[in-house]
Amino acid sequence: MSLNNHSILIVEDEPSLIFTLRDTLETEGYQTRVAENGDQALSIIEEMPPDLMILDVMLPGMSGFDVCQKIREQNLNFPIIILTARDQEIDKVTGLNIGADDYITKPFGVKELLARIKARLRRSDEFNNGNTGTITLGDVQLNLDTATVIRPDGEFELTTREVEVLRFLSGFPNEPVTRKALLEHVWRYEHSTSTRTVDVHISKLRTKIEMQPEDPRYLVTMHGVGYMLKLKQNS
Ligand code: CA
Repeated sequence: MSLNNHSILIVEDEPSLIFTLRDTLETEGYQTRVAENGDQALSIIEEMPPDLMILDVMLPGMSGFDVCQKIREQNLNFPIIILTARDQEIDKVTGLNIGADDYITKPFGVKELLARIKARLRRSDEFNNGNTGTITLGDVQLNLDTATVIRPDGEFELTTREVEVLRFLSGFPNEPVTRKALLEHVWRYEHSTSTRTVDVHISKLRTKIEMQPEDPRYLVTMHGVGYMLKLKQNS
């Protein structure tokens, strides 16, 4: 296994688990830093955000959920994997609602954790490399960082949700994405959402990014599946 240069922040207060995590991750070539509570984690992140964070929920002082929320409020988007000792659906839902990318229940196997970490890092690397925040759809320019659409007939503003939808879809260019995946990752299991919610937002979004929204060329419907964002592949 070659050195991979990704940095991982471990936020955990249990010494034996810190030891195990550190040992496992460093053996795999990751650079690690450790915080034993939320305040420490936030100041480490302020110095230099990690590529990924492993975050225990049950911490002294600020809970892992609070830490996660504070990070997302600062618009930091590195992947966060939450560790929970309580095998409860509510934790998963809460975690995903406040911006965690994945969660894993203690006790967990090292192999499972490493697989999750690799999957998350691969996805965020692809996203960071392939996506500078601007997307070109024919005559239409989308700037996701400023939430604006520049078209021959004027400039339009995107809502936060529309930006999230586009960011998610652009992570899987030219691939069908299910309504369920959009609900899970963009709406994060919010109450009173359904696949209909997704359809309504997509229709609205098309009026902004498609010159002929009734006959979309870029944000297309995949019948019986969901949606696909057609992009020219970067060569
Ligand atoms: Ca703990």
